[in-house]
Amino acid sequence: MRAFGTTIFAEMSALAAQTGSINLGQGFPDTDGPAGMLDRAVQAIGSGANQYPPGPGVPELRRAVAEHRADHYRLDYDPAREVLVTVGATEAIAASVLALCEPGDEVIAFEPYYDSYAASIALAQARLVPVTLRPVEGRFTFDPDELRAAVTPRTRAVLVNSPHNPTGTVFTREELEVVAELCRERDLIAITDEVYEHLTFDGVAHVPMATLPGMRERTVMISSAGKTFSVTGWKTGWVCAPAPLVTAVQTVKQFLTFTAGAPWQLAVAHGLRHELEWVSALRSGLQDKRDRLMEGLAAAGFEVLRPAGTYFVQTDIRPLGFTDGLELTRRLPELAGVVAIPTQVFYDRPERGRHYVRFAFCKKDEVIDEAAARLKRLSA
Ligand SMILES: *Cc1c(COP(=O)(O)O)cnc(C)c1O
Repeated sequence: MRAFGTTIFAEMSALAAQTGSINLGQGFPDTDGPAGMLDRAVQAIGSGANQYPPGPGVPELRRAVAEHRADHYRLDYDPAREVLVTVGATEAIAASVLALCEPGDEVIAFEPYYDSYAASIALAQARLVPVTLRPVEGRFTFDPDELRAAVTPRTRAVLVNSPHNPTGTVFTREELEVVAELCRERDLIAITDEVYEHLTFDGVAHVPMATLPGMRERTVMISSAGKTFSVTGWKTGWVCAPAPLVTAVQTVKQFLTFTAGAPWQLAVAHGLRHELEWVSALRSGLQDKRDRLMEGLAAAGFEVLRPAGTYFVQTDIRPLGFTDGLELTRRLPELAGVVAIPTQVFYDRPERGRHYVRFAFCKKDEVIDEAAARLKRLSA
């Protein structure tokens, strides 16, 4: 694991703290989740939910997850056998890859990709095969032929993240169908990272891979309360999949962490049952914040790529006269008092993303406005 070093988020957040810069790097909200859900966690702690919960998760949460899948997506999962609670989506991804991939197996992932994918695949001694997303008419997407060409006899799984961090793309049904067709034809498993499932904009709907024909039986669907309810510090996620796949993932999960924290699980069960209106308000608030930050970045001279979901907006830095996002983000605190993330760190082939920088907009309006005002210094 030596090659992985420390993550860019640690480096950039430390830089923000040292220089007093506004941190639009790491994607965590600067406001709290729904009060009723926070109260439920406090109540759970005060009323004895403080010992190891069952390995697969608190039954109340597993039932709430199954009901939510059924209401929202018309997907039926048996809460007793087909839902597994994890320590965030991060553990769900790691346990899924470790459980389902043998050494030497190949896992296809779209680059730029969330940084834990490469680490999880390395831990499994499997091989990550990247397929690059590129902007087409201002939106990152993949070339179906490139995806097809990436499949080999060793391919075991495709890791699909939609809504996609860091590009903000929400894959269309047609795009997902290209992936699904390959999975069916070549007998691949889809591991789907859907942590931003509720955070889509402009009326764009998230389509879960498992709702496509023939896909429920071969999809490991991963969600998290962190992004849905603005509680990234709770690290509570879950896997929904057919029982044999869940059993495999749980076999690994039990030796990573055994179980996830009890009070959060009870509170998230409450959230899924009673706080979905709060989530709708979060979504529309985030859409406004996206527009606010996009406007500020455009005024500062960036080329801005409009995201349809997530917390993030991608910018092309070349109009400002820069070519290397890593160099720019390391200098950005001194140039403008703002911290962002160089998108190239999310690529297998960093040169393909060298000129992009990612900014997070899950921040208070006044923070976004102040960052926008400071970034104007770049073109001054
Ligand atoms: C935040 C994030 C995760 C991690 O979720 P946790 O529940 O905090 O572990 C996974 N995937 C993507 C794409 C994310 O942005």
